[in-house]
Amino acid sequence: MKTIRLQADQPADIAKAGEILRQGGLVGIPTETVYGLAADALNGEAVAKIFKAKGRPMDNPLIVHISDISQWEKLVREIPENARKLAQAYWPGPMTIILPKSDCIPDEVSAGLETVGVRFPVHPAAQAVIQAAGTPLAAPSGNLSGKPSPTNAQTMLEDMDGRIDAVVDGGSCQVGVESTVVSLACQPPRLLRPGGITLEQLRQVLGEVEMDDAVLNPLKEGEHPASPGMKYKHYAPKANVIIIDGSYEAYCEYVNGHKEPGIAAMCYNGEENHLEVPAVCYGGKEDYNEQAREVFEALRKLDELGANTVYARCPEPKGVGLAVYNRLIRAAGFEVLHVG
Ligand code: AMP
Ligand code: MG
Repeated sequence: MKTIRLQADQPADIAKAGEILRQGGLVGIPTETVYGLAADALNGEAVAKIFKAKGRPMDNPLIVHISDISQWEKLVREIPENARKLAQAYWPGPMTIILPKSDCIPDEVSAGLETVGVRFPVHPAAQAVIQAAGTPLAAPSGNLSGKPSPTNAQTMLEDMDGRIDAVVDGGSCQVGVESTVVSLACQPPRLLRPGGITLEQLRQVLGEVEMDDAVLNPLKEGEHPASPGMKYKHYAPKANVIIIDGSYEAYCEYVNGHKEPGIAAMCYNGEENHLEVPAVCYGGKEDYNEQAREVFEALRKLDELGANTVYARCPEPKGVGLAVYNRLIRAAGFEVLHVG
């Protein structure tokens, strides 16, 4: 299959993306979080192609993207008051709300669950493509399953060229990590995946919000996660990533004490000056938003460097930093070394 390149600022290209989607094809689309791999959410056959293109396990449900609140009403059984309030506060934006699904959701989307996750993206090109398609779009991140999510069209093509019908190039993503996923299908509401909307922001609107164990911890043997995506090794480059938790001095000492071929560092901006191995930076130490924007590209760059072992600075799990921590700890398969 030849993958067509489309431009987000060309109305004819947006119309073309809409046409491909209406006909049951697959299109890579920019959103504020990461690039998504979209199909018509109401067409089970089209949605099944997403799983094939990504190599995604069939039991991992997809998020449905809308460009209008009236679409949401058709996708879920009902919209409770707290869901409306949350949507009013943070939509359009990087947040997915889980609610009991209506009958129009194909099993491929919900992967056998009784619920569906819905998101209203703020990215103008994402909204334009949904409108052009005239249907809500199911869209997981546009990477091959297990790899870091793409935050620009070029990276998405590295994984998907030849596997999908088209990709819409809308530049780099503003947030850089996938959406916050919050379930309102349980009481109290539960954070299933941290993202650009923080736990504190959810609590401002909802009051009590629990954080699912899987946000910070590996699943125990035989445990079923509330969010199936949390059980897979994820976001991982080819290299073995190890998180080093400790002061900057202790980190440098550890890394410089292990400078063998194939070792690389993943550190904060400016810290590479004291490291004696190849290093890739992933944002300023206190700039959690910048870290979120850069973490996935940094992981891919480490592969380009040919690293086989990566010592990564431990992100601070605060604010949007919680999302960075959640992704990096999965990329590391939960391997954390405490130093200093
Ligand atoms: P991705 O689209 O690649 O960001 O993956 C979507 C994430 O949302 C995965 O971790 C899914 O497990 C999670 N998700 C989607 N729908 C549901 C749902 N109905 N209930 C719980 N988690 C969901
Ligand atoms: Mg994903």
